[in-house]
Amino acid sequence: MTKGKVFLVGAGPGDPGLVTCRAKELIASADVVVYDYLVHPELLAWCRADCEKIYVGKRPQWHARPQEEIEALLVARAEAGRNVVRLKGGDPLVFGRGGEEVRRLAAAGIPFEIVPGVTAALAAAAHAGIPLTRRNTSSALIFLTGHEDPQTHALATDWRRYGSLPDATLAIYMGMARLRLILSELMAGGLPPATPAAVVQWASLGRQRSVAGTAATLADLADSRKLSAPAVILVGEVVHDREQANWFERLPLFGRRIVVTRAREQAGDLQRKLELLGAEAVELPLVEIKPFTDRDTTLEIFAEIGRYDWLVFTSANGVRHFFDLFLKGFRDLRALGVMRIACVGEATARVVRALHLEVEISPAGGTAEALADAMIATGSLDNSKVLVITGNLNRDTLVIKLEAAQAIIDTFQVYENVRSDLTGNPAADDFRQSGADAVLFASSSAVQAFAAQAGALQPVAGAKHPLAGSIGTRTSEAMRQARIPVDFEAKEPTLDALVDALIEKLGDR
Ligand code: SAH
Repeated sequence: MTKGKVFLVGAGPGDPGLVTCRAKELIASADVVVYDYLVHPELLAWCRADCEKIYVGKRPQWHARPQEEIEALLVARAEAGRNVVRLKGGDPLVFGRGGEEVRRLAAAGIPFEIVPGVTAALAAAAHAGIPLTRRNTSSALIFLTGHEDPQTHALATDWRRYGSLPDATLAIYMGMARLRLILSELMAGGLPPATPAAVVQWASLGRQRSVAGTAATLADLADSRKLSAPAVILVGEVVHDREQANWFERLPLFGRRIVVTRAREQAGDLQRKLELLGAEAVELPLVEIKPFTDRDTTLEIFAEIGRYDWLVFTSANGVRHFFDLFLKGFRDLRALGVMRIACVGEATARVVRALHLEVEISPAGGTAEALADAMIATGSLDNSKVLVITGNLNRDTLVIKLEAAQAIIDTFQVYENVRSDLTGNPAADDFRQSGADAVLFASSSAVQAFAAQAGALQPVAGAKHPLAGSIGTRTSEAMRQARIPVDFEAKEPTLDALVDALIEKLGDR
C-alpha cells in the first residue's frame, strides 16, 4: 500500500482569516485532521464530510494525549495510506513540538510537508497595535517560552541574560503562570523597570484582551484585569507606540460578545461580519438541517419535472437539497427542462446562480409576499404549473397567494429543520456561563428554535444579560410571541442593517 503523507500545518493565532491558502486547501482535502486546543472550530468546517477529525488538545498542566501517542497516531494513519493534516496553533515549528513530530515521521519514512503559520506573537503585535521592531531602539526580536515543560515548575531560561539586552523586543509565550517572576528576573538582569510591556490574551479574536504598562507594573495590571493564558507578553520600547497603532481594539464591536442564532444558511456570513467589526461572535447551533425525502412524492414530481412552468426556491437549503436529490435521479442538469426560476431572498438566488441557472425573479426585501406579487405581475400564472421547494417550516403565504392567482401548485419538501441537542455543547455552555451583549435573530424560525431551547440556554446568575435584536417585522413579531423583548430592529431586512442597528444600540450602552 502506498503511504499517506503528513502535513504539519500552522493554524494561525485564532482568527480563521489568518490561515494560509495552502492550509485551507490541505484541510479541505485531508482524510484525517489531527488538531489542538487552540485551533479555531471554523477551520474544521472546511473538512470533507467524511474526514476523520481527531482532537488531541493540550492545555497547560493537562495533556489530553501524550506526545508519543500523537506521534504514533500520525505514523499509523499515514501508514494506512491516509493523508493527514496535523493542525497546530500559530506556526507548527514555534514552541509547538512540531520538530519532534517531524523527527518521528522522518524516522518512520513517512513523507511530510510543513506549512508555516502566523505565530501568536505576530498576531498579538498586529492586533494590539505594537510594532515589533523600530529603527534605532528595537533592532532584535526574541521569541521566548515561559516554561519548556509545563510539568516542571523550575525556570529553565536564564531570564537575567535577556534582561540585559537594551535594544531587543521580547515576545514571551506560555509565560502567564510566572509573569511576576519572569519580569522580576528580567529587571534583576538589568531591564529598566520603566520599560514598556504588555500582555495580549486571545490575540486576533473578538475575545482579545490586552493591557500595557511597564516591566514594574505589568504583573499587577494583568492580575487586576484577570488576564491569563493563552497570552503573549511583549516587552520593549515598541510597546510605547501602541496608542497610535491600536486599530483592532477600536473597532465598533470590539470586546462585545454577540450571539448568532443559526437556523439559516446565512449564520456564517453574519458571524464573519461581526468578527470583522471586532466582536466575539458566538454561534449557537440551534437547529440542524437534514435532507428529507419522501420516495413516492419524489418519483411523482421527477416523472413530471419537464411540465412545470415555474420552479420556486424559498431558501438556499432548499436549492442545495433539491439539486442533490435531482442529480441523484438524473445525473444531467438539462433534465430540468426550461422552466422559469424564482427565489425568495438574495442568498437563495446566489446559490441557484452558482449552478449557472438564471434566476428570473428574486425581489428586494426577500419576503414570500414580495415574491408572490412579482410572479403574479408577470401575468403568467393562470393555469400554470408551479413547483415550490420547501423545508418543514415554510409558511403557506406563498402558496395561498399563488393559488389565488389560479396557479397549480405542487410543494416539494426536500429538507427539514431538526432541533440540535445543546446539552454539553460548548457554545451553549459558554452562553450559559458568560451570557452576551446581544443575541441576533435573523429569521422567525431562529426565534422559534431559540425559544424551544430556552431551557438549555438559561444563563447562570451573574452572566451578562443580552439585548435581543431582530432583522425585521416578522422576526420581531415571532419574538413578541415567544416573549422575547425586542430591544432593537433592523431598518431594512438585511444582515448589514441588523449589524448597523446593533452598533447603534450598543453605542448607547
Ligand atoms: N505554535 C504556537 C505556540 C504554541 S504554545 C504559535 O506559533 O503561536 C501556546 C502559547 O502560544 C500560548 O500559551 C500563548 O502564549 C501563545 N498563544 C497562542 N495563541 C495565542 C493567541 N491567540 N493569543 C495570545 N497568545 C497565544
